[in-house]
Amino acid sequence: MQVSIDLDALRYNFQKVRRVAPNSKIMAVVKANGYGHGMIKVAQALSEADAFAVSTLSEALVLKQAHISQPVVILEGFLDSEELNTTVEQQFISTVHSAYQLDLIEKSGLSGIKIWIKLDSGMHRLGFPLTEVQAIKGRLEQIDGVEIIGWMSQFSDADDLSNPKTQRQIDDFLQATNGLGGQRSLANSGGILGWPEAHQDWVRPGIMLYGASPFANRVASQLDLRAVMQFSARIMTVNHFHKGDRIGYGSSWTCPEDMPVGLVSAGYGDGYPRHASIGTPVLINHRVVPVIGRISMDMIMIDLRGQPDVTVGDRVILWGGNLPVDKVADSATTIPNELLCGVTQRVDRG
Ligand SMILES: *Cc1c(COP(=O)(O)O)cnc(C)c1O
Repeated sequence: MQVSIDLDALRYNFQKVRRVAPNSKIMAVVKANGYGHGMIKVAQALSEADAFAVSTLSEALVLKQAHISQPVVILEGFLDSEELNTTVEQQFISTVHSAYQLDLIEKSGLSGIKIWIKLDSGMHRLGFPLTEVQAIKGRLEQIDGVEIIGWMSQFSDADDLSNPKTQRQIDDFLQATNGLGGQRSLANSGGILGWPEAHQDWVRPGIMLYGASPFANRVASQLDLRAVMQFSARIMTVNHFHKGDRIGYGSSWTCPEDMPVGLVSAGYGDGYPRHASIGTPVLINHRVVPVIGRISMDMIMIDLRGQPDVTVGDRVILWGGNLPVDKVADSATTIPNELLCGVTQRVDRG
């Protein structure tokens, strides 16, 4: 099994963000090991990013150790005083989303604390209610050594272009932060591509950088995005079974006629989704071949009736290139983000 990363495609997608949001700075989101692509490699390739965003302090430290020079924003902020100390010492920028973090800042006596305030404009996951912005600002102004860089919020439904909730979140956030000073940031990939008004001072692209679609009903190529990751494996053997033979775990698939079945050397132990349904496409020699039977830990079976010439050693593209990861995700009732993040340690990274 092999993963290859197309850094030119990554840079192309980054430039797409620039073209779509020309007046905004770009905080490239590289959390979860750069959505599975390799965080350091991605950050080094995106030398034009204005900042990088990660979820945790330990991810930020990885970027620091790799001598990434842009500012690093920690989206989940700090959980205790020790994390706050390290964050400030390393000059990371933290997000502050909860009252306990304000307490920690007050008690710390530290200076040089730079923060984004995370606001809840309707997602109801992380962040202060919009009604509290004045109080938070007032409280932080009493503390020396704290700089509010800006105000941030996240959309709950930006994967759905027809959902009116996103516009409501934009309106409510802009109204609540109007005249507060500081910069504003709202848009993830869906917001960037779907709601120009959400661009504001900073955009925060994640999934679109990696060439997958943030929208449920569009694939990446319709959005002029290029696949960055290609995940492939090889044909281990070709077996010939008879009409009525039932194959794989649970005997879930029955051969409708005598037929060749290819075994592919990757499974859920490599990050191929176990829930990929019968008919999920793979590509061999540029042609689509359907998955049959259940996905095993180390193997996938495919229906070779349309491709009788396939032989041992042939490369099988599981996603990437001309096979959008969006399509595979759809067949496994998940989103591309989960597949890209989920490729495991066992897979070669060329
Ligand atoms: C992960 C994340 C993003 C990037 O989202 P995509 O939908 O992948 O573009 C942006 N902002 C925040 C706060 C995030 O957690």
